[in-house]
Amino acid sequence: MEEWCEQVYYFPGQTRSAGAGIMVSCGIHGDETGPIDACAALLHRLRKHRVQLPRPLLLIFGNPAAIAHRQRFVDFNLNRLFGAAQVGSPREDSIEARRARQLEQACARFAQQCQGIDWHLDLHSTIKPSLIQRFALLPVTRREYRRPWAAALGQAGVGALVRQTQRAHTFSQFSHDRFDADSFTLECGSHATDKSTDTALAQWLQGLVEASTGAVGDVARLPEYPMVEHQMTEHQMTEYRVAEAIVRRTEQFRFLIEESEPNFSEHPAGTAFYCDGVEPGEGVFRLPGPRYSLFLNSQVALGQRAGLLLERLQ
Ligand SMILES: [Zn+2]
Repeated sequence: MEEWCEQVYYFPGQTRSAGAGIMVSCGIHGDETGPIDACAALLHRLRKHRVQLPRPLLLIFGNPAAIAHRQRFVDFNLNRLFGAAQVGSPREDSIEARRARQLEQACARFAQQCQGIDWHLDLHSTIKPSLIQRFALLPVTRREYRRPWAAALGQAGVGALVRQTQRAHTFSQFSHDRFDADSFTLECGSHATDKSTDTALAQWLQGLVEASTGAVGDVARLPEYPMVEHQMTEHQMTEYRVAEAIVRRTEQFRFLIEESEPNFSEHPAGTAFYCDGVEPGEGVFRLPGPRYSLFLNSQVALGQRAGLLLERLQ
């Protein structure tokens, strides 16, 4: 094991020709303690037992400064700073911008050292509860993923797949675009999720990195994910696409529905959803079709995403 830079750990594969590597990251947002604890447990196990992994692994704790203070970020949201040179912007000197460049370099070194990056799981947890507790977001992609991921994600209790339609400077979009990895942002539960699920998550991750040989179909032989209340199968995974991204334009922005509702709440076509204008009643947005809400947060900075509206695909 080598620590390439602060809290970025490289584990070589069993053989020199172990093939493309796998990346697991957490703590891009420093207050998402569930996935951070699960990855810390994985790191502890791999170190203590000197586990020889079949494939190279890069295990990343995304934002050490924010993790130390158990806060989402120090200066800026790190998950908006990947793959984008923000030259001349005040963000470029922020703790998060420097960290984004450092992580990008670590990814490039990893890709070079082990002939590419096969897949990347970027683990997060949501601020508010979700009607579908665990779900995966796919970056904008022009190709189908190489593996039958649904089975492996289903074993982790992932109940929904959300296809993004607008590029954002997220870590998973970066690893997909730059290294052609099968990348996911995996929401592992809400901040309030029971601690026992962190243990289950750690066990699932362990199975994933220790069993992954690179052989076609190996993901189908992963161990069961033990402590999920509603074990999902791939047939129960619901697919959504992002129909609209809500961007906060003015100080007056507010939701016209109950903002504290859980993620994936359903709203019929025609619902007056938010208003964003200086005059009362100005800039009211009505849903053009049935939609499911995700990540609603009216308190973001101007110009930032205040939520997503999803369309169900099947
Ligand atoms: Zn997050």
